[in-house]
Amino acid sequence: MTRENAWTKCDKKKINQVMEFCEEYRKFLSECKTERECTDRAVEMAKENGYVDLMDVIAKNKTLKPGDKVYASNMGKAIVLFNIGTKPIEQGMKILGAHIDSPRLDVKQNPLYEDEELVLMDTHYYGGIKKYQWVAIPLALHGVVVLTSGKKIDVVIGEDMDDTVVGVSDLLIHLAAEQMDKKASKVVEGEALDILVGSMPMGSKKKDDEAKNEKEKTKAYILKLLQKKYGFKEEDFMSAELEAVPAGPARNMGIDNSMIMGYGQDDRVCAYTSLVAMLKTENPEKTTACLLVDKEEIGSVGATGMESKFFENMTAELIGRLGSYNDLTLRRALANSQMLSSDVNAAYDPNYPSAFEKKNASFFGRGIVFNKFTGARGKSGSNDANAEYVAKVRAAMERDDVAYQMAELGKVDVGGGGTIAYILANYGMEVMDCGVAVQNMHAPYEVTSKIDIYETMRGYLAFLK
Ligand code: MN
Ligand code: MN
Repeated sequence: MTRENAWTKCDKKKINQVMEFCEEYRKFLSECKTERECTDRAVEMAKENGYVDLMDVIAKNKTLKPGDKVYASNMGKAIVLFNIGTKPIEQGMKILGAHIDSPRLDVKQNPLYEDEELVLMDTHYYGGIKKYQWVAIPLALHGVVVLTSGKKIDVVIGEDMDDTVVGVSDLLIHLAAEQMDKKASKVVEGEALDILVGSMPMGSKKKDDEAKNEKEKTKAYILKLLQKKYGFKEEDFMSAELEAVPAGPARNMGIDNSMIMGYGQDDRVCAYTSLVAMLKTENPEKTTACLLVDKEEIGSVGATGMESKFFENMTAELIGRLGSYNDLTLRRALANSQMLSSDVNAAYDPNYPSAFEKKNASFFGRGIVFNKFTGARGKSGSNDANAEYVAKVRAAMERDDVAYQMAELGKVDVGGGGTIAYILANYGMEVMDCGVAVQNMHAPYEVTSKIDIYETMRGYLAFLK
């Protein structure tokens, strides 16, 4: 079965809508490169749309009623939003979920060293990456340094066009005969991903008198700059979370301007579209929820990952505010819910056709991608949505004329991947995987199709209706 390319069904007006929407998305992608930055922006957008902090509602002992909209931040790294429907919550919610963490290089806790008057920062990569892709490109540092006083210092280095960037070196081709014979997984090893951050010894400017007491003058100068500009010392790296990510904005792509190339589209393309659809939905019948979580790329672990009880706890708090808390109401609200668990899917790539089984691959231009199941080998690690639920979701897409396709990641024995779907399914709710097709998944720059981004947002709206 071949589905029609969604571009061919667009008139001039719709193409303009797609381009306008994707311009906003491109801005979000350029400015929100960490889970913290995504959460901060989501809070801002929620507030602009009439959402209030659930913690304030609780602190003031207020009650909530249909039409009220609340959000709760989980340690500033994940967020849930609720829009209270007219139907009792025990009839279930409509939930959109996506993750806002992306593969990157994390700065280690004891990172700084000097070698022959060069200063480097040691890193530990986060998520599944082809390490050789992260060398010889401009990187930016984003994150926080938390002092023992509790003061939190925000750091962003390398994003303004006149700001300075950092980066990981690679061996010149002229001396790389041995390297080029290695397996791709060994060409650049984890411990060779140290970031070059300085090369100017202190004392280069005459006024640096303290320079003569320093053995490692280049490192001393970097530390002096960090103290002066940001107010932290070397030992404060211990309580820092600094992420090295590709520097600079996401870009429009294609001579026809039909795609977007940018960092972190896995899974911020689904997170942004879910969030926008959530915020556009007014006065729903069933309570709607949007869940943006951290740590998916390392197994959904930790307090801010999907495995944590945060969502369940916040749903319990919400029920408490709707009247009196009742455990059975909570159990039923979760079990009767329907969810779209959104994550990116591999877009068919003409450079690597052998990885795909074309009838079940996802393609640029064919709209939101549904996966009845994900997983590896014999569907291991997948959620495998019920056919009855798949049919319901299809009906919603067809009702609102949303372009959609049904796909798997790649050929059966070639590989696989997991999502957060199975975790929510543990409550007994109906969950299906879906998302946006992306090329170069987990590379520093990933590629998506603009019409797919727009249709995905429309698909979420149709689902929430
Ligand atoms: Mn991923
Ligand atoms: Mn993902």
